[in-house]
Amino acid sequence: MNTSTDHLHPHASATPIAEPAESAGRLIACRDCDLLQQEVRLARHADAHCVRCGARLYRGTRTGLTTMLSLMAGCAVLMVVANLFPIALIEVQGAWSQTTLAGASLALWQNGRPLVAIAVGATTIALPALEVALLLYLLIPLRLKRVPPGLPMAFRLVLLVHPWSMMEIFLLGVLVTLVKLGDLATVVPGASLWAFCGLIVLFTMAASSFSVRDFWRWADSAGADWEGD
Ligand SMILES: [Zn+2]
Repeated sequence: MNTSTDHLHPHASATPIAEPAESAGRLIACRDCDLLQQEVRLARHADAHCVRCGARLYRGTRTGLTTMLSLMAGCAVLMVVANLFPIALIEVQGAWSQTTLAGASLALWQNGRPLVAIAVGATTIALPALEVALLLYLLIPLRLKRVPPGLPMAFRLVLLVHPWSMMEIFLLGVLVTLVKLGDLATVVPGASLWAFCGLIVLFTMAASSFSVRDFWRWADSAGADWEGD
């Protein structure tokens, strides 16, 4: 199956659509009905639709590279805070206990639920961290008009990892648990919980404004050479 990025940056360069021309005037195939059409420059946040079947062909610029980079840098800082500090402090009959994100996964493992522990660790710590790290690896050089080595591979990995980041589901679970625990114990939200809330807000903002087309445009203007890959 072809994706829109394949249409924009195919590896072969024999056909007219493979020309890495400036965005205006480039040909694009409708993914629903295969009709070839000429791209037009769109206003910010506008969408282009197929003239024959009405399917959405592509979207106009969603966000700038600097904005996206700032959001990712913010995510990285909040991610560090969310992982270093306790999620909550819990007091039961004078005894205080606390746990971190990694501690919560570890506790699941020790309680004989290794699969759940791995799922929680992967979807709330490892994969979101990998996604933010990869995006910083890609966006910082692009902002400096340089092309990072292995850009296509790293970006493919970002698209692969993104659906598996489920921090908001974990947060919902934690909040329900803490509210229920409130009847039995004193619960004080930790720094990690606040950082985690902020992280989810920034991460969602970044995900909703990120567009694959914008990314390739940033790569193009940094001088990426697609023939070399
Ligand atoms: Zn169509």
